[in-house]
Amino acid sequence: MQAKSKVQNRDFIRVGKSKIQGQGVFAKRNIPKGTRIIEYCGDRVPKRDLLVDFANGITSLIYVLNLNDSIAIDGERNGNDARFVNHCCQPNCEVYIFDNIPYIYAMENISRWTELTFDYKLQSMSGKRLSKKERIELFPCKCGAKKCRATLIAQ
Ligand SMILES: [Zn+2]
Repeated sequence: MQAKSKVQNRDFIRVGKSKIQGQGVFAKRNIPKGTRIIEYCGDRVPKRDLLVDFANGITSLIYVLNLNDSIAIDGERNGNDARFVNHCCQPNCEVYIFDNIPYIYAMENISRWTELTFDYKLQSMSGKRLSKKERIELFPCKCGAKKCRATLIAQ
């Protein structure tokens, strides 16, 4: 019983229709700042394979999270609800990695039914620096934040 109630205490989120785009993740109850909300699950993939996987239609690269210099986690493959958390340029959550496992944390107090977001900070997979125009064309952002930088790619 003890273990079960602990799991329920971790049950913070619900997937639903997003105003940003498609599906999103919403707070089912008030979430205090600093709360570890959910693990970001997915297959661990060598980064050097990602462009080939993209070309073969295996991944869209949108749900790829950097784990370290050589490995990424692709939420599109065996991911959990965490992959439905939308990107925002002014997010209320952030991903931190502990013991090689990424978790989504609340960066502020989040009220019930607020949509959760984090900054995807996508990297250019080819290793070549993209121009601003290329960044916006390849991975556009329409998050609606006042300071939207118009692309999911990190500055
Ligand atoms: Zn944006």
